[in-house]
Amino acid sequence: MGEWSTAGWTWGNLGIQTNATEGQFQQLRQELQSLHSLLERFSPVAGTVDSIVWMPNSEGDYSTRSEYDILALLRFGEAWSNSSPSCFSVIWEAPFPQRIRAFGWRCAHNRIPPKEELSFRGINLSVNNLLCVYCAEVVETCDHLFLGCTFAKLMWLEVFDWLDVSANLGGELVSSLGLWIQECRNKGIKNGFASKVWLAVLWSLWCYRNDIVFNNVKACPSDLGWSVKFKVWKWSCAGNITYSKCDYYDFCKNPLFFEG
Ligand SMILES: [Zn+2]
Repeated sequence: MGEWSTAGWTWGNLGIQTNATEGQFQQLRQELQSLHSLLERFSPVAGTVDSIVWMPNSEGDYSTRSEYDILALLRFGEAWSNSSPSCFSVIWEAPFPQRIRAFGWRCAHNRIPPKEELSFRGINLSVNNLLCVYCAEVVETCDHLFLGCTFAKLMWLEVFDWLDVSANLGGELVSSLGLWIQECRNKGIKNGFASKVWLAVLWSLWCYRNDIVFNNVKACPSDLGWSVKFKVWKWSCAGNITYSKCDYYDFCKNPLFFEG
């Protein structure tokens, strides 16, 4: 199969006999090279027994849910994330205030009116007025405001750190909820809690953006971090007697304590 060296494991000819004619040998060598390129990512671990691992699940165990997610993603791509009832039903069913739920629905369907959209609808804004209120470098779109802006990225990084989740949410708001829920699920975080965090980040960014535009508030990323945590705590307490006994500062230190 191969051999160990100081540099690690090197795949050999895998027991394939090469005593063929020259023409056959050429073809065999090409196939062997292709096989080696596939095997490059894998190497044996000394002292362990071989086992079967289901890669789509972070635990390595097969589940019909993870297979469904993979097949749905392959079949529908981002369109699945955009329209999957499994993603958005968690927002509709969670005990959010009505206006927050409506905001989530509008985000999920790209119905939030950033400056670019207002301009498109005929509202007269100067070129400078079209820029993002946070960074003042890029035209304000929903995708930029909630995901692409340096300010938003700082916000998300703080949330990743808070929940110990690392995620690539892509560049499109409409597919970010599906990606976020998937990453959280890989860490054992339930859909309801993941959707609460997603919505709290967006709602905080939107409210703060409006404060900057209409009330001349100065942008401060650390304020927003606390705002997101407070919203998630408040929404978790609503209608949940267990959470309502949890002190806000304890919740900030251990946000998943009641989610296990
Ligand atoms: Zn920006």
